This record gives sequence, structure tokens and C-alpha cells, in this order.
Amino acid sequence: MKLLNSIADLEAEMRAWRHHLHAHPETAFQEHQTAAFIAQKLSSFDLDVKQGIGGTGVVGTLKGTVVDSKVIGLRADMDSLDIQEENDLKYRSTVPGKMHACGHDGHMAMLLGAAKYLADNPAFKGVVRFIFQPAEENEGGGRAMLEDGLFEMLPFDAVFGLHNIPLLKEGSFAIRTGPIMAAFDIFDITIKGSGGHAAMPHTTHDPVMAAAQAISMFQSIVSRNTDPIEGSVISVTEIKGGNTYNVIPDIVSMRGTTRHFQPHIQDIIESRIKEILKGLETSMGVTTVIKYERRYPAVINTTKETEEAIRATVMLVGDDNVFTNLAPIMGSEDFSFMLKARPGTFMIIGAGMPRTNGMLHCSGFDFNDKILTTGASYWINLVQSLLV
Ligand SMILES: [Zn+2]
Ligand SMILES: [Zn+2]
Repeated sequence: MKLLNSIADLEAEMRAWRHHLHAHPETAFQEHQTAAFIAQKLSSFDLDVKQGIGGTGVVGTLKGTVVDSKVIGLRADMDSLDIQEENDLKYRSTVPGKMHACGHDGHMAMLLGAAKYLADNPAFKGVVRFIFQPAEENEGGGRAMLEDGLFEMLPFDAVFGLHNIPLLKEGSFAIRTGPIMAAFDIFDITIKGSGGHAAMPHTTHDPVMAAAQAISMFQSIVSRNTDPIEGSVISVTEIKGGNTYNVIPDIVSMRGTTRHFQPHIQDIIESRIKEILKGLETSMGVTTVIKYERRYPAVINTTKETEEAIRATVMLVGDDNVFTNLAPIMGSEDFSFMLKARPGTFMIIGAGMPRTNGMLHCSGFDFNDKILTTGASYWINLVQSLLV
């Protein structure tokens, strides 16, 4: 708790940064004002700042007073969502149709707070890189930073991420070793038959019927082909076809997502979806086209770094407030690209908000400022315990 007290001086400043960022949300790869704000702050703390990595990414580098080759990366995400804010706040979004509804404004403020504190208290051994990543939502800004040469330009040995979850107790932490968030794939399917009069279906090859078969057979993949213990999901989320009562259409299109943790499960799901569609071609006289795209890999926390992160949280909030066996989450995170390249771990911080308006990606969501100092203190503890 000592650190929480000493960082309390920064709380008002972190709130102000968070509210500024909340009022000026920018979506994937458009985070120009956000990046300029972050870069200006990091420069004012006397960090070496590099901008424009992976589009709008920013990295600030801080050297400890004791020279050492060890380098760690701490990562926050910068993008907002395409949601119209419904909160009545002084700092509500000034951009119609866009808002920080996932708490990335809070993530940035916590990491900036840690950067300022450590710049003023640099008695550690090695180097810290503060990584502000664009486009976490859907667009893979983590991958963009890697493809732009992040690791070559600004190498580091291990990398750490942090995300808030509203329903977890305020100021607590949760984590697990191994898979913590699922891999995320998408698919687009077109089923082409031959339409006709709805009263004479035997003269058609009905793509609506074939689509219905496909949707129900996809569920047999996750209930009969993959091991239930290993966890996977297939969701068809859009279906389009036809436009009236009495005409069987020529074409039905649909799309959806799959989630899983293990590469062999991903292989089974992708190949079985394709086999089911091939089977429908034979049995129902339709033709099918599928585009299956692997988007984010699973977030897999490495053992050593997870144990180190747990130690940093226990020092801060005590054993009772650190849940070390969090159930894996079917949501996805592109921090996974960094974790595929370097060891590291993804920590969850509890925001303790009511279910009514506290959910991520809801128009009534607002990051809980009360955890700003806790999150910043976690980052500081991690640096001070790893770089000694
Ligand atoms: Zn989100
Ligand atoms: Zn998020």
C-alpha cells in the first residue's frame, strides 16, 4: 500500500489525462491527436519518444539509473469504438458516434502515470519501454506495430499488458498462466443455388434450406468434433437472402466468428466448416464459396512472467485481492501478437462497476477513475521488482 500512497499525488493529473482522452476518442489507426497527446506527455517526462510505429503507435523509452541490458515493454491500447456515448458527463465524447467504451482511455492514463512516476524515480536496473498501441479493436494494431519493425527498432525481452474488467471487484487483479483469451477468426460464406417459385420448391436448389443446414451442422463441430474440455465457439452472426414471401432466392450469404485456444482446434474448426459446405454441394445441389480468415491468435501467458506479475500485484493489494486462476475468456485481444514474439503476460484489473451500465462496449460505460492509481502502481511495482 506504500506505493499507492506515494502515487496519490499523481491521481488528479491522471484523471485529467483520462478525461481529456475520453472527450476526444479516435478509432483504429486514426489515433493522431491521441498519439500527439501521449508523445507530448512522454517527452515532457524526458523519455525518448518514437512515433508512427504501425501507423499511430507511440513508444517512450526510459533508462534506469543502473545500466543493464534487460529491457521490458509495458503496453496500453489507444483506440476507441464506433459507439454513440449516452453518458451525461462533463468530459463526454465530443465526437459523434465514437467513444472510449472499453476503457482504453484509462489504460493510457495509468501507463502515463507510471511513466511519470518512474521518470522521477528511476532507481531501477535496465530499460522500460512504454508502448501505446493503436487499433486493438478488430484491426490488429499489435500486429501492425510488429510488422513495422517494433522489435528491431526498440527491442525488449518481455512484454506486459493490462485491461480493466468492470464486473471484477474494484482494485483487484485476475490472471492465469497459459491461455487467457481466445483466438479469433472470421468467415464469409456464399451459398448459390437456383431459385424459383416458393410453391414449387422441387424445381429449385434452395440456398435458404442449405444455409439452415449449414448453421445447425456447424454446431456439431463444437459439440462432436472438438474436445469439449478444450473450449471453442462457432457463431453465425449474419444471414442474408431473399426479399419476399413467394420466391426462393438464388443466393444466401452469411458470416460469423469462431473462437478457440489451441491451434489444433482451430485447424479442426476451419477444415470441418469447409467439409460441411462441400457436403451440402453434393447433397443439396448448391455451390459454396467460403473466405475463412485467421485474425488474432490466443493470448497465452508465459509461466515465469505471470508469476512475476502476480508478485507485483500481491505486494500492492494483498493475496485476497489477486485471483490467480481466472477462467479463460472467449473474447480476444491483439496483445497476443506481442506475446507470440516475446514472453510476457496479460493482467486483468477489476473496475468494480454495476452490471447495469458497467459493461465494456456499452454506450453507458465509463472507466472507473478510482482504479487509476492501482493500475499505475501495478506497472511501477512490476518495473521495480523485475529490474533490480
Ligand atoms: Zn474492447
Ligand atoms: Zn479493450
